[in-house]
Amino acid sequence: MKLGVDIGGTEIKFGVVDDAFATVEKFAIPTPRKYGESIVEAIAEVCLETAKKYPVEGIGIGSPGIIDGREGVILRASNLPFLNTPVTEPLRARTGTRVVLGNDASCAMLGELYAGYGREYDDMLMITLGTGVGGGIIIDKKPYFGKNGSAGEFGHMVVEFDGLPCGCGRKGCFEKYASVSALIGLTVRAVEENPKSLLAEMSGAKIDGRTAFNAMKEGCPVAQQVVDEYISHLAVGVENLIMLFQPEIIVFGGAISNEGDWLLNPLRSKIVTDALLVCSRLKNDAGYIGAAAQLLDEA
Ligand SMILES: [Zn+2]
Repeated sequence: MKLGVDIGGTEIKFGVVDDAFATVEKFAIPTPRKYGESIVEAIAEVCLETAKKYPVEGIGIGSPGIIDGREGVILRASNLPFLNTPVTEPLRARTGTRVVLGNDASCAMLGELYAGYGREYDDMLMITLGTGVGGGIIIDKKPYFGKNGSAGEFGHMVVEFDGLPCGCGRKGCFEKYASVSALIGLTVRAVEENPKSLLAEMSGAKIDGRTAFNAMKEGCPVAQQVVDEYISHLAVGVENLIMLFQPEIIVFGGAISNEGDWLLNPLRSKIVTDALLVCSRLKNDAGYIGAAAQLLDEA
């Protein structure tokens, strides 16, 4: 059996999976916030406990941020206290087990490849709509990483000339328009401009990526406009990706994919090219399943 670990900003998810990547048991702990080393130590404790219960043959770890997978080091991550933090070596020393480390977006893709739609389709794209926009490319049942391992950064393809500035140093990147952060930005603006709308009423103390979808489902026309604008931007990037790759299927993951057909039906109507668009069935399990899948020789 394999142990997959999915490091997130608020919690660390663990999952024990069998050889077919079915989940045997899963659990989570709060993410220690102080030092990167304290996160690694917390993971080691859980791994040792888990190994008492299951014959764990390897540990796969997925983390946000910039990863040096070969050295097993997390160089940095925007919402976590990692800075050139060694991960695989201290864990291997503590547990005596093989440990591999990779980027969380790649892990989500591997999860989809080995336990999700990848079982049914050969050519697939994964688009993750979260705080940023991540991506993954599967060609002929194999992940494609490019020469430096970072292919599939769909979030940083430019969809708007001279558009919104992005942290990567360019302007008009896809994730400035299609991420949860972008949707929240549109929602905040609409609430300010329409203080008497149902959207404003439902937004309460905190606006998140669900607020506009929830108000739209209750029939709010302002919220409908927000979702429409968001999906129009999303459609531009998705259409470009279809033109580039002609995938059999595009699988959406990340927080916004939980909206299911509320997201996909309007998106389908805005896309001219024929393509199969679906939301991941793995949901929150994709991260640890994919983290465990990194242990496969062919991954
Ligand atoms: Zn960018």
